[in-house]
Amino acid sequence: MDLQDRSYEIVVVGGGAAGTSAALSSARARRSVLVVDAGEPRNAPAEGVHNYLGREGTPPGELVAAGRAEAERYGAEFSTGEVVAAERAPGGGFRLTLAGGAAVVAARLVVATGLVDELPPVPGLAQRWGREVLHCPYCHGWEVRDRHIAVLGTGPMALHQALLWRQWSPRVTLLRHALDELGAEDRANLDARGITVVPGPVEGVRVEEDRFTGVEVGGRLLPCDALVVAPLFTARLGALAELGLRTEPVRRGDVLVGTRLPVDATGATAVPGVWAAGNVTDLTGNVIGAAAAGANVAAQVNSDLVEADLRRARADPFVVREREVADLVAGERRHGL
Ligand SMILES: Cc1cc2nc3c(=O)[nH]c(=O)nc-3n(C[C@H](O)[C@H](O)[C@H](O)COP(=O)(O)OP(=O)(O)OC[C@H]3O[C@@H](n4cnc5c(N)ncnc54)[C@H](O)[C@@H]3O)c2cc1C
Repeated sequence: MDLQDRSYEIVVVGGGAAGTSAALSSARARRSVLVVDAGEPRNAPAEGVHNYLGREGTPPGELVAAGRAEAERYGAEFSTGEVVAAERAPGGGFRLTLAGGAAVVAARLVVATGLVDELPPVPGLAQRWGREVLHCPYCHGWEVRDRHIAVLGTGPMALHQALLWRQWSPRVTLLRHALDELGAEDRANLDARGITVVPGPVEGVRVEEDRFTGVEVGGRLLPCDALVVAPLFTARLGALAELGLRTEPVRRGDVLVGTRLPVDATGATAVPGVWAAGNVTDLTGNVIGAAAAGANVAAQVNSDLVEADLRRARADPFVVREREVADLVAGERRHGL
């Protein structure tokens, strides 16, 4: 699709669950909407999306493809690519440049760019991410139920994780790794739930013939079926930061868990005309939550555009009617009528 200098009422950056859902709702609200998506959703390595009512276990790519087809039926447009530059457009709205050089103009923006999981730097760990290296028991716990689950101690969250994952298996080991010697209270809690503690740093993840066999501690294999880690969840803003969007740290107690793009209750960011939905603003949100957030934000953006349309109609009714006719013709063309 040749996008050069095309204008849309709404451009959504990011076509995961949040962005695709925002596009579906926006297109059904008869808004012109483009989704620009770099095609790297966070859960891509997972074999299925769990806890998504009505589509339990569907492969991540299949779920998003189905949503995209639904949005396209109502006239939403999708473009594969990355937004690499963003600025205010001279006539109002925003101008986004895509890798490759094409630029589009948007009256309103929805940021649905997700987050990056920054993984602990243990050799071989990243290669098994989303397969046997896991973080979320609601996403993967059932799949490793009753198996031997090892929890990597990179920070205080590891104790919480060990006790949480114990719900899914009686065989949980806490690998102390970077943790200091545990206090008496923590030891008592782990003992009470039968969680064993292994001292010493983890030197690597052991894989034999593409089969995860465990972790190396003190030069020896500690066999296990899954390794639980606590990534740093980093909001993915990229070039959109050029619009003045700023992330903020997110802490659980004293522990830094990541960064997010702050929004108000309607999903609006601090930059007028820009909304956000999904993991970029809600670090612990799941797929169904991201889809819901996208739909909610789309309604807020539409309300804002309804008000803008009204202001323009009061100022110059003729111009608005002309624009409505042009939109109607463009919409009919899109639907092949
Ligand atoms: C391994 C793993 C397994 C998971 N399993 C589950 C599960 O079973 N169930 C569940 O509910 N949740 C699961 N999750 C969480 C789930 O991945 C997120 O809740 C969900 O992906 C959030 O959707 P999103 O639309 O906000 O972001 P994403 O799905 O990450 O989509 C963001 C999109 O934006 C694009 N993008 C980013 N920057 C740009 C840019 N500058 N220009 C253009 N495009 C851009 C990306 O390429 C990506 O396609 C899992 C997470 C992981 C890591």
